[in-house]
Amino acid sequence: MARVQLIAGNWKMNLDRAAAVALAKAVVEQAASVSGVELAVCPPFVYLDCVGKVVAGSAVALGAQNMYHQPNGAYTGEVSASMLCDLGCKYVILGHSERRHILGETDQQINKKVHAALAAGLSPIVCVGETLEEREAGRTLAVIREQFEGSLAGLSAEQMQKVVIAYEPVWAIGTGKVATPQQAQEVHGELRKLLAERYNHQLAEAVRIQYGGSVKPENAAELLQQPDIDGALVGGASLKADQFMGIVAGAKF
Ligand code: PEP
Repeated sequence: MARVQLIAGNWKMNLDRAAAVALAKAVVEQAASVSGVELAVCPPFVYLDCVGKVVAGSAVALGAQNMYHQPNGAYTGEVSASMLCDLGCKYVILGHSERRHILGETDQQINKKVHAALAAGLSPIVCVGETLEEREAGRTLAVIREQFEGSLAGLSAEQMQKVVIAYEPVWAIGTGKVATPQQAQEVHGELRKLLAERYNHQLAEAVRIQYGGSVKPENAAELLQQPDIDGALVGGASLKADQFMGIVAGAKF
């Protein structure tokens, strides 16, 4: 079965309410003429409600950028998976490199979130990726394996099918330095191999693996045409509807 590519915009901690609504409206409008590709936007928590109202019933899904693993309780400042479902989220980004490296999230914490997201009916977009230092030390595939094993521990095959993996080399995020299609394909191929080893070939062929890291309309098509790249997680270029849709135009379907 062919995998449907997923192009998701990670808006990070950007925009204000009016700009978030305007961007969502522009994406929804342009997405109306797109088929064969899945789109999602991931605004900051506080704009999930207003953006959710704009994308409801459209071809654009709603995603959050993080969540906490506990279902409820005395966890000041945190947001649960069921709260995200309540706002209409389908996806939640987990283990983004900014959360790993700036906020100190570990594979173990990410794994708890992945289980909680799946239990609530969300599809987690789980990010993995090596730093420049790790790549230069020849440790890329070892790091990817470690993050795969840690962040995605204990998932049944049925659960794994609902997960999207995002390979995001840390050195390519927000830097303008994009991985070459060959560098990205190598890691995507390795991730699919890890899935086949742990589960089976059929499941490995079904799970979507996105690439993220300075994806722009100019470099999207070449990346998205690689056999094991199933979409993109887009930061900077997702803040402009035309650029985001320019990336969507490069998707294969
Ligand atoms: C990201 O934050 O997930 C990302 C890929 O950012 P950018 O596209 O800006 O590199």
